[in-house]
Amino acid sequence: MTTNSLTYAKSLDETYEIPSKREAFYIQEGRIYFDGNSLGLMSKRAEETLHSLLGSWKEYGIDGWTQGEHAWFFLAEKLGAQMAPIVGANKEEVIVTGSTTSNLHQLVATFYKPEGKRTKILADELNFPSDIYALKSQLALKGYDESHLIRVASRDGQILDEDDIIAAMTDEVALIVLPGVLYRSGQILNMEKLTQAAHDRDIMIGFDLCHSVGSVVHQLHDWDVDFAFWCTYKHLNGGPGSTGALFVHEKHFGTAPGLAGWFGSNKEKQFTMSHTFEPASEAGAFQIGTPNVLSMAPLLGALELFNEMGIANVRKRSLALSDYMLKCVEDMLGEYDFKVCSPTAHHERGGHIYLEHPDAARICKALKERNVVPDFRAPQGIRLAAVAMYNTFEEVYKCFEILKDIMETKAYEKFSNEREIVA
Ligand SMILES: *Cc1c(COP(=O)(O)O)cnc(C)c1O
Repeated sequence: MTTNSLTYAKSLDETYEIPSKREAFYIQEGRIYFDGNSLGLMSKRAEETLHSLLGSWKEYGIDGWTQGEHAWFFLAEKLGAQMAPIVGANKEEVIVTGSTTSNLHQLVATFYKPEGKRTKILADELNFPSDIYALKSQLALKGYDESHLIRVASRDGQILDEDDIIAAMTDEVALIVLPGVLYRSGQILNMEKLTQAAHDRDIMIGFDLCHSVGSVVHQLHDWDVDFAFWCTYKHLNGGPGSTGALFVHEKHFGTAPGLAGWFGSNKEKQFTMSHTFEPASEAGAFQIGTPNVLSMAPLLGALELFNEMGIANVRKRSLALSDYMLKCVEDMLGEYDFKVCSPTAHHERGGHIYLEHPDAARICKALKERNVVPDFRAPQGIRLAAVAMYNTFEEVYKCFEILKDIMETKAYEKFSNEREIVA
């Protein structure tokens, strides 16, 4: 057998120690889907639990809040408990609520307490725009201008140097918000080390886990992270617009939510309808309004799959797939000007790989024409996520075989090199 061929890829699928759960998902015949880091695919379990909650609306009407297998009143907590092992938290520390951005607002409103000369927020210049917008608006609410947002610079435009971040943790910083995995390069930040460094300097620190949750292992509780927040529609496969989640370390239980609302109440007291807010004693306190039950329902099934596979196995299989991707780039695309911008070391690489090419936009269009779904990031990035849950080594090989053919035949040249409206 040659070292890299379709036969070789198939043999990896047969022998790899951790099998996928591909049969639990809806996979379109003939399509290679490598965009699970933007929108995970639908599983049959997610479909079932969504139908189950539609059924409880049908059957119980208002009483669905307290009746049925998944009573809506307790759904956010139930999902928090299911999510906790995936992020290394105690079940009381996680709640499924809001969206990434609204949860970030809630957590900054709660934990950003400028005092004396400690008034600044530390973030980074590679972060996702929504996080930066939220941080700037939170500063504005406190009467500070943008100069209070420090964004650690990247030396190469792809990767952050943890020593640069630590060097920026001065005594003017009140709060730090960083990604767990960078959405472009896929770099993992060492959350434990950064948390330790922040705490040594008396600074609160929180992480955006959108690109790390469901693909890498976290130990949020043991790392002593103050807070975290994430979406559930990427690696977690909760469906388009599925409800987000947040983590608050138990040592902060009792801190009054910056943005209070009645669903943050102690559940026993919520319906006394008092004008004095009595928050829940756990992460549930940070909920605001009525949960989006139908946007949470698919998660019941989707998270089950994670807990069956175990997040450590998800991570191991994900690395094996992305190792193979990197091998394919090297073996098959050597002559075509692709630059690998993701870190190669395991402890630094998240769930996707990131390539750059001057013709990236139209290469992605050519891939889509051939039924391969990549993820384009302007101006010249291609993200490819071989997801542990449902992608195979064979798909990786085939994707690169197609990509090589597109480069060889210049099939991409018939497309314009511009991004689509959603890309
Ligand atoms: C996907 C993503 C978001 C999206 O935020 P929403 O509120 O869910 O729209 C925010 N931050 C990062 C880092 C992301 O990857």
